[in-house]
Amino acid sequence: MKFAEHIADLVGGTPLVKLNRVTEGIDCTVLAKAEYLNPGGSVKDRIALKMIEAAEASGELQPGGTIVEPTSGNTGVGLALVAQRKGYKCIFVCPDKVSEDKRNVLRAYGAEVVVTPTSVPPEHPDSYYSVSDRIARETPGGWKPDQYSNPNGPASHYESTGPEIWQDTDGGLTSFVAGIGTGGTITGTGRYLREISADRDGGRVQIIGADPEGSVYSGGTGRPYLVEGVGEDMWPRAYDPKVVDEVIAVSDAESFEMTRRLAREEGLLVGGSCGMAVVAALRHARTLPADAVVVVLLPDSGRGYMSKIFDDTWMASYGFLRGEETRTVGDVLA
Ligand code: PMP
Repeated sequence: MKFAEHIADLVGGTPLVKLNRVTEGIDCTVLAKAEYLNPGGSVKDRIALKMIEAAEASGELQPGGTIVEPTSGNTGVGLALVAQRKGYKCIFVCPDKVSEDKRNVLRAYGAEVVVTPTSVPPEHPDSYYSVSDRIARETPGGWKPDQYSNPNGPASHYESTGPEIWQDTDGGLTSFVAGIGTGGTITGTGRYLREISADRDGGRVQIIGADPEGSVYSGGTGRPYLVEGVGEDMWPRAYDPKVVDEVIAVSDAESFEMTRRLAREEGLLVGGSCGMAVVAALRHARTLPADAVVVVLLPDSGRGYMSKIFDDTWMASYGFLRGEETRTVGDVLA
């Protein structure tokens, strides 16, 4: 009989899948790493597992403790999955720009959700950083993993995501592309790939970041954008810019258009930061020779964005639709 002891044992080991249609006009191979196939539906399962196990080992997290984290949803799901197995409580703090769908998912896993305003600076007492600090401090047995500064976030990618990509491409990849949120994914994965590439093939692997226009990683001032889970208005400790060769800025409009194309043309129902990463990957891939192999990481599923990116009315309200998508009964019957 083949079965897992617990759903949390199935984190990682996600497949690579070739992009076929959105790559028209590009000579090289572009492979997507489908992180939505993790049991919690996102790349964040990986850091959740590693951060909790490390905190148990160090004694920071004690039996019966409460995990308190500011999270846009995905990290919360990962933490909730692992917490369930190990008997911890979870309280998550989300900014109000995060979709109601995503918050309800956290509640479904048994977590408590606290919502804070998006439009206040990080040092404001109502910001999601400040509120989560306060709850963690005031809750007995409270522990805040703090994905923005916890070295076990990048470490989980150094230990799992990086080696998986190297092995699945037989060491043949030439570029790795990922969006930057906390920076944990690109820092840990990129560091591993840089090191092994330096060792095995003279360091030919390039590490490319994708960032929403307006975010600090691509030189912005932190002005608002709509794509969720990526970009920042400050520099977190989980991000090491030295690992990254180039950061490509992508607009919301480009990100969302590509997100929709990935579902329609590639059968990949994924989130907005995936569209963003693919836009950056394709822009980069256009400059590469035919024997290059680009791996782009797709962090989460599109299911959490049905009332936003995949909703014509929402898209049109921001001017993202070019008019051809929504048809009325009259149009169809005419
Ligand atoms: N996309 C989504 C949807 C996310 O939730 C995150 C995590 N904030 C990322 C991308 C970026 O990953 P990282 O935090 O590792 O940079």
